[in-house]
Amino acid sequence: MKALAKRIIVTGGAGFLGSHLSDRLIAQGDEVLCVDNFYTGTKANIAHLLQHPRFELIRHDVTFPLYLEADAIYHLACPAAPIHYQHDPVQTLKTSVHGSINILGLAKRLNVPVLQASTSEVYGNPVVHPQTEDYWGNVNPIGIRSCYDEGKRAAETLFFDYHRQHGLNIKVARIFNTYGPRMHINDGRVVSNFILQALEGVPITLYGDGAQTRSFCYVDDMVEAFLALMATEAHETGPINLGNPAEMTIKSLAETVLRLTGSSSEIVFKPLPQDDPQQRRPDISRAKERLDWSPSTELEAGLARTIAYFQELLSA
Ligand code: NAD
Ligand code: UDP
Repeated sequence: MKALAKRIIVTGGAGFLGSHLSDRLIAQGDEVLCVDNFYTGTKANIAHLLQHPRFELIRHDVTFPLYLEADAIYHLACPAAPIHYQHDPVQTLKTSVHGSINILGLAKRLNVPVLQASTSEVYGNPVVHPQTEDYWGNVNPIGIRSCYDEGKRAAETLFFDYHRQHGLNIKVARIFNTYGPRMHINDGRVVSNFILQALEGVPITLYGDGAQTRSFCYVDDMVEAFLALMATEAHETGPINLGNPAEMTIKSLAETVLRLTGSSSEIVFKPLPQDDPQQRRPDISRAKERLDWSPSTELEAGLARTIAYFQELLSA
């Protein structure tokens, strides 16, 4: 017998990750209630879904309560790129804290599982490497990244308190740098910046000496991890690191993008932003063991798809 379609709320569903997650849920037969205030998300990301009978768009700011009916909630609403979350830091913190309280209240009323899109930023500038989930982090509470980092840490606290106090079925995902088509063209994140600069033949802006490291996960792999985490038993709360453990320097990322695009852009060095983490790599042993998940997309394959997306965007 065919399984009944589930109704799933995706907050931040018009954003980069949320739109890919919505695609995946629709493809498997679910109904999607996309809740977004278009702070950083766009209608273009979900244009292909707007007429779909199982997709519904609700323009709403999660810092205000909302009343909907659903079987599960993926809570992704929050600006994610440094220039976006630093644009209005108070709103960023409100989105993480007030937004999580509203979404947790909704999940409690409905008694449904709720997944929090947390972040590797909860580890701050980590002194433990690679990062495991039991590391408490090294976060500046008063810096320019704090609205995001501390907001996400407070959100995790709220999720665990709702779990302990109300028995809520929570799933806390600590997402590491993820890239792919539909990254915002002006979000200033390294993958989109480098690709756009290379395609436009303008200098590649390397912050600092480029020796800082990151580990990049392709969006399709991340979406599979979200689904696997949501499908776990109620006792699986996380936190659980989701990301690609293949670590590289930002300089080598620049060189790879130059090679894949065939660009002759020069590399220019710019000052390193305040509190920019020196190194980041997830230890994903827990995800492997509990979700039977690990990323399968090679960096060059994922970058090639992302480059094709930006090429199309620029030519349009
Ligand atoms: P994004 O900016 O593309 O998407 C965020 C979405 O949330 C946007 O559509 C935006 O309009 C919406 N939003 C923001 N504030 C809102 C509010 N108050 N009410 C309703 N909607 C609101 O970012 P993304 O990369 O897709 O990130 C999605 C989630 O994953 C975020 O919570 C982010 O913190 C987390 N995350 C992403 C990454 C990454 O590498 N992409 C890494 C770690 C964590
Ligand atoms: N970065 C860079 N040039 C850019 C954009 C970013 O060298 O044009 C660096 C940035 O300083 C950081 C890394 O790339 O060390 C990743 O930056 P991003 O903003 O993508 O994400 P995050 O710092 O949140 O991991």
